[in-house]
Amino acid sequence: MIEIPEAFTISRQIDETLSGKRIRYAVANASPHKFAWYHGDPAEYNQRLAGKVIAGGAASGEMIRFRAGDMQVAISAPVRYYTAGEPRVKKHQLLIEFEDGTAISSTAQMWGAFVCLPQGELTGMGHIDGGRDKPSPLSEAFDRAYFDALWTEQTPSLSVKAFLATEQRIPGLGNGVLQDILWAAQLNPRRKMETLCQTEVDRLFDTVKRLLAQMTMLGGRDTERDLFWQPGGYHTVLSNRTAGTPCPTCGTGIVKQAYLGGSVYYCPTCQPL
Ligand SMILES: [Zn+2]
Repeated sequence: MIEIPEAFTISRQIDETLSGKRIRYAVANASPHKFAWYHGDPAEYNQRLAGKVIAGGAASGEMIRFRAGDMQVAISAPVRYYTAGEPRVKKHQLLIEFEDGTAISSTAQMWGAFVCLPQGELTGMGHIDGGRDKPSPLSEAFDRAYFDALWTEQTPSLSVKAFLATEQRIPGLGNGVLQDILWAAQLNPRRKMETLCQTEVDRLFDTVKRLLAQMTMLGGRDTERDLFWQPGGYHTVLSNRTAGTPCPTCGTGIVKQAYLGGSVYYCPTCQPL
């Protein structure tokens, strides 16, 4: 899966780098992957894409999206660009070769969705189609009123991690960006939403907006790679690389724990339970 800062960065780079390129051929599912999901038969992807011209990219939620002629392509895995003659990666779930000798490939990490269908058609998968309609935290439409409206009857009993990063409540806000958001908001991932005071809810909303914008402006996180296979410019505070190292604020060792299908990282002093 891919998260908001990288989805926007890679879509922007596709827009800038690939627009106008004509597709020579496409190969989908060359390396079968247990958790790679295709919309339609991957054997038809070449037929759908060959000869089409890239007409710009735009992200929504956790999907990288671009248009190719009359087709729309959406990918929820990193996309890598190759110059003419540069060796292509061997394992991939989608490879698109262009007439000028350049190419892109995408390889699913833990899982990945690959969509290629005529513009205007929907996949019937709510989390993929719906991700287009839900406002991105990077947009003005994701304001305080929208954030407050995400609260439902179930919200009080949810932990902060469950509220922000599960059920596609906020598409593209996943377990990766979550860690630094909660560290900056000084909230423990296990805190129940009902225990948050008004100041903490304000801080949570402000941090979601501010940090995702910052990560995106800096070209994604340094733990992930962009279209040109370079690490992003945002220095990630909490990740598997920094577990056990001192918290930049207080010096306490950063803790790593398994929680809700994935590891959480936090500072026990800055983010008490
Ligand atoms: Zn700390």
